[in-house]
Amino acid sequence: MENAFTRRLYDASPVFLQHLFTSAYGWKKRADRYGTHYRRYRAFFQESFRWPRERLQRHQDAKVAETVELAYRQIPFWRQRLDRLGLRPSDIASVADLPKLPLLEKSEVRQAGTAMLAAGFPRRMLHRATTSGSTGFPLTNYWSTEALQRDFGFDWARRRPGVTRRDRYGTFTGLQIVRADSLRAPFWRFNWPGHQVCFSIFHMTPRTLPAYADQIINSGLSYLEGYPSSLAVLARFLLQHGIAPPPLKAVFVTAEQLLPEQRASIERGLGARVWDQYGLNEKAASITEYACGHLHYDMDYGVIEFIPAGRDEEGEPLHEMVCTSFDNRAFPLIRYRVGDLAVLADPAVGCDLCAGPIVRRIYGRTAQVLLSRDGRRITNMSVIAKRCAHVEAMQCIQTEPGAVDICVVRGEGFLPEDEERIVREFQKKMGQIDFRIRYVSDVERTPSGKFLSIISRLAPVACDPADGGL
Ligand SMILES: [Zn+2]
Repeated sequence: MENAFTRRLYDASPVFLQHLFTSAYGWKKRADRYGTHYRRYRAFFQESFRWPRERLQRHQDAKVAETVELAYRQIPFWRQRLDRLGLRPSDIASVADLPKLPLLEKSEVRQAGTAMLAAGFPRRMLHRATTSGSTGFPLTNYWSTEALQRDFGFDWARRRPGVTRRDRYGTFTGLQIVRADSLRAPFWRFNWPGHQVCFSIFHMTPRTLPAYADQIINSGLSYLEGYPSSLAVLARFLLQHGIAPPPLKAVFVTAEQLLPEQRASIERGLGARVWDQYGLNEKAASITEYACGHLHYDMDYGVIEFIPAGRDEEGEPLHEMVCTSFDNRAFPLIRYRVGDLAVLADPAVGCDLCAGPIVRRIYGRTAQVLLSRDGRRITNMSVIAKRCAHVEAMQCIQTEPGAVDICVVRGEGFLPEDEERIVREFQKKMGQIDFRIRYVSDVERTPSGKFLSIISRLAPVACDPADGGL
C-alpha cells in the first residue's frame, strides 16, 4: 500500500473491492519483477548452480572488483571512504582484498541516506523498502529494477523446486490486507493475476483458524510460502483437529529463523517438505536449502565473509555474516554488517550437488542472541522451550547484560511447577542471571508481524574485521 490515503481508502472498501485492489497491486508487482533482467538472471543462476568452487571464486573476485570500481566512480560516500584510507579502487580486486575496507554499519547506512545512491539512478526509478528491524530504527534499502528482477530470477532458478509460476499458492507474510478490527472471515485477499491467496497472519486465533483451514483446503493451492511461526500455527491446528492437509507440493519459509520444532510441525501438519532459505531485504546475500538437504552459501549471488564471533552454548564456533552485494548498481553494499550469525559445517564435508560451502545453522535475524554474564552467547532457545510443558509460546527479551525477561504465553494446564522448571532450565544454560517471568497473552512481533524468539536490545558486540573469513 503506497501511502496513508490509499491505506484509508483500502480499509474503507468492501471485501470484493479489496480483492480488486490486491489484484491490481499484484499486477503492478508482476510487471516490476518479471522482465528481461529476470529472464537473463534466471538462466544465469540455473547454469551457475553447477559451477565448481574455483569458478565461483573467480566470479566473486570479478564482481567485487566491478562493484568497488562502480561505487568509487558513482557514489560520494564510497569515494570518500576509499580516499580517506588512501586506497584506489584497484586495491580491492578480489574477495581477499575486502578486509582492507572497514565494516559498513547499519547506522552509517541510515545516516548516509541517499548519499549512498549512485549517480544516474533518480529515486523515482528505484524500488525501495523501509524496514524497522528488531532494533526499531528504520532503514531504507533501494534496488534498481535490475537488482529486483535478478532476485526473482534467483528465486525461480533455485528456490522453487517442483512448482511453477502458473501454480496457485498461498502466502502468510506481514502484509496488512485485512482491517485490524475485523472479526469475520475472509481473513485473506486474492491476487488473481498472480494466482495468489494472501492470508493475514494478524488474525490467526483459535476462533478463526477453522476458517483458515477451510480456505486452505478448498483453494486448490499447490504450495505455501511465508513466516514459519505463522505456518506452524496453522499446521498445529490441523494436527490437533485431525484435519487432513491439502495435497501441497512444498512449503517455502522465509524472513524468520526456522526452528526445528516448527519444521517438524509444518511437515507433519501440512504434509509437504519445508524448504528453508536465508536472504536479506538488502538483497546482498543468500543461503538456500537444496534437494541434498544442506543449506548452501550461494557464492554466485553475493559475498558473505564469515567473521569469527565467539562460540555458542554448545561450544560451536559462531561466525558473523558480513555481506557484499552484486549487481545493485544503484545502491551497492560493501562489507555490510548484517548482524546475523552462522555455524559452518566442517569444510572437509563436500556435496555432489552444489559447490558452495555448507552452513549448518543460521541465527537470525539481527543478533538474536542472549548474552550470559560470562560473555557466552545463547542462541538456541528451542531446546529450552521443548523441555517446558504447558507453554504455548516463549520469547526472551534482553535489555541489560545481567537480566532477561522471559515472556510466556501459558498453555492449558500450566502449573506453578512449570514456572520453576522454566527458570531452572534457563539457569542451567545461562548461569545466574535475573530471570523475570512475564505472563503475556501474545508474544511481541516486529511491525511486519515477524516473531523473534530472542529480542536483544543490547548494543552489538564488536567483531574484529581483520580476523579473516571464508
Ligand atoms: Zn548439499
